[in-house]
Amino acid sequence: MTKTIPATLIAGDGIGPEIMQSVTTVMEALEAPFLWDHQSAGVGAFDQYGTALPEATLDSIRRTGLVLKGPLTTPVGKGFRSINVTLRQAFDLYANVRPTQTIVPGGRYENVDLVVIRENIEGLYAAMEHYMAVDGDPEAVAYGAGFNTRAECNRIVRFAFEYAIKNNRKKVTLVHKANILKILSGLFLHEGRKVAAEYEGRVALEERIVDACAMELVIRPENYDVIVTTNLFGDILSDLTAGLVGGLGMAPGANIGEKMGIFEAVHGSAPDIAGQGIANPLALMMAGSMMLAHVGRQDLSKRLDGGMKQILQVEGLRTRDLGGKATTQDVTQALLRAIQ
Ligand code: NAD
Repeated sequence: MTKTIPATLIAGDGIGPEIMQSVTTVMEALEAPFLWDHQSAGVGAFDQYGTALPEATLDSIRRTGLVLKGPLTTPVGKGFRSINVTLRQAFDLYANVRPTQTIVPGGRYENVDLVVIRENIEGLYAAMEHYMAVDGDPEAVAYGAGFNTRAECNRIVRFAFEYAIKNNRKKVTLVHKANILKILSGLFLHEGRKVAAEYEGRVALEERIVDACAMELVIRPENYDVIVTTNLFGDILSDLTAGLVGGLGMAPGANIGEKMGIFEAVHGSAPDIAGQGIANPLALMMAGSMMLAHVGRQDLSKRLDGGMKQILQVEGLRTRDLGGKATTQDVTQALLRAIQ
């Protein structure tokens, strides 16, 4: 089959190249339609070009609007800001979508199948911070502020409801802290209710205060379907939900804008195991599956998901992070057989 969809591929730092190799090998076998444009970013790019996000990479992303990205190291002290945050803001990637599903049997939870949709640009991540001096101590008081706009609250909640309809999901939970942050979180809640009213009868609405939601997610995660929330709460809750189903090695994510999608694993570059061939490639593989569905190739996405279920549930394959001994290469080979 001809490859017709241009897509930017960034292998990334640390374990990035190892897990990306696994994903592209499997994509090739699936005859995925992507025409890869290989670009660099992160520490590798910084060392080679003096910038962690070269102009050529940005140009490629502008051109393709579609990216599969390995993890990027944000070095402490090298003086560049997080590329992930830069990309989100540069390309208005306002929705962060993180599905969580029980695939590995025998874990703590058997029936988790939920999606956290996190607002990606505003909220307390605006990080408007400063100190205030008191009695000669210049750092006596630390201030932090954030902002939410009506337009963005509307856009992210609408995205969540549209996602629910498209993916045959039944309920959206608005997660907030409007009892305390009456203005900042209140605007999100009020705008969310307005949007939800437009979907009445099609998708159910539920509201939860974030602390109660965190507790319930641990006790009864199977009660949740789609969660939509603001930036900081979404960041924390989506790591929590990854922990429910086997940890970061099993958690994919997508950053979505109006005309753009960047697909990645939730985990970082794992420098402690880089180069050893033991990283779990499945989080990035799942991100690849989301990318296939995003471009309308649900057929290939389902085949890939089926392959992953087969090797985990039937063959019992486990990388080290899941308590086993399988290598990255073992997973690749098993998947190649499973998707035939
Ligand atoms: P990390 O996610 O890289 O690693 C945390 C732990 O999980 C480590 O013990 C690691 O070995 C393990 N782990 C992670 N992914 C794994 C996988 N696929 N298979 C097996 N084990 C895995 O988090 P960290 O150590 O805090 O961060 C390392 C670097 O990654 C930092 O520079 C950080 O800024 C960056 N980071 C990047 C992204 C991204 O690009 N999206 C996300 C998070 C962190």
